[in-house]
Amino acid sequence: MRCSFCNASAIISLRYAKLRLCPEHLSSYLERKVLRTINRYGLIKRNDKVLIAVSGGKDSATLAHILYRLKDHLGIKLVGMHINLGIGEYSIKLERASRELFERLAIPYVILSLKDIADVTLPDIVRMAKRAACSVCGLIKRYLMNITAYMLNANKLATGHVLEDIVQFIIKEFLTADFDRLSKLKPLLEGTPDGRLVTKIRPLYEVREKESLTYAIVNNLPFVYDTCPLIDERMMVFKIRRLIDNLELEHPGLSIYFLRKYNSSFIKYLENLGMNKTKFSTCNICGMPSTSHTCGFCRLILRIGKDPLDVLARVRSQIETMT
Ligand code: AMP
Ligand code: ZN
Ligand code: ZN
Repeated sequence: MRCSFCNASAIISLRYAKLRLCPEHLSSYLERKVLRTINRYGLIKRNDKVLIAVSGGKDSATLAHILYRLKDHLGIKLVGMHINLGIGEYSIKLERASRELFERLAIPYVILSLKDIADVTLPDIVRMAKRAACSVCGLIKRYLMNITAYMLNANKLATGHVLEDIVQFIIKEFLTADFDRLSKLKPLLEGTPDGRLVTKIRPLYEVREKESLTYAIVNNLPFVYDTCPLIDERMMVFKIRRLIDNLELEHPGLSIYFLRKYNSSFIKYLENLGMNKTKFSTCNICGMPSTSHTCGFCRLILRIGKDPLDVLARVRSQIETMT
């Protein structure tokens, strides 16, 4: 199988685009695609300081590498962060891969370890708070990613969500009729004017998981392919994921069509209904934007018998070691 652009042999076939690509042409294809997404949705402006959240997996490795390749052209500054959640050997491997990636790309970075900032691991918190692992993990990650961006004066926070992640969430929030969450699955989610809630961007919005995996492999990026041991495969999102994969096999290009429709018409409809206007107040403990009197993170920390302000002081001191 030959590459559609040169004589080298192709390592990936993209049915929706009718292309077969060699390693080199896959890399340039994805870099151009991400640049187009950035321009189409206005994700990044000159002089932005972008914090990349790296999980140690393939998608955020690909994201970091592509932004690294585009940074001079875009005129931006990059910083990186990784959160070690203390899930045994799994987290150790993820942290190692993240560090290696940042070092290789010479991106200044901060590692936050849950054990260091709160004396507990994610499995401890799940046990103590009696809540589902994925929801606690999501809450902690969202809060720590945002506060790190805020403390580092970054005005954008980039995550490695790929096309299938987004489509999966759109279908899930639609099925559960959570219109507030449904309205937030855009490539750019505006922060608050005071900068405390940092604007989130998803540059891999139109990149497929298979493309991101192949990019990470051919560019020899450090990443871990294991799945989280705390994940429950019976959760609805995984069934939705299989459904999307099967549909896409029979109808190549369906997901991207769906995503474009979501952004061009569905979102507007939700916005007209006022569904996208989250009213933020300020958390009475940490002072960060919150939809309730005390934010979810501070409530969780209180629930496990710790002091949120002490946790935040430790976060700040870890971040200061980098700057
Ligand atoms: P997930 O929620 O695991 O699907 O990850 C979505 C995105 O969140 C990843 O692509 C990363 O950008 C970011 N992310 C996930 N886990 C971590 C982590 N432990 N540390 C830093 N960023 C993370
Ligand atoms: Zn080629
Ligand atoms: Zn708070």
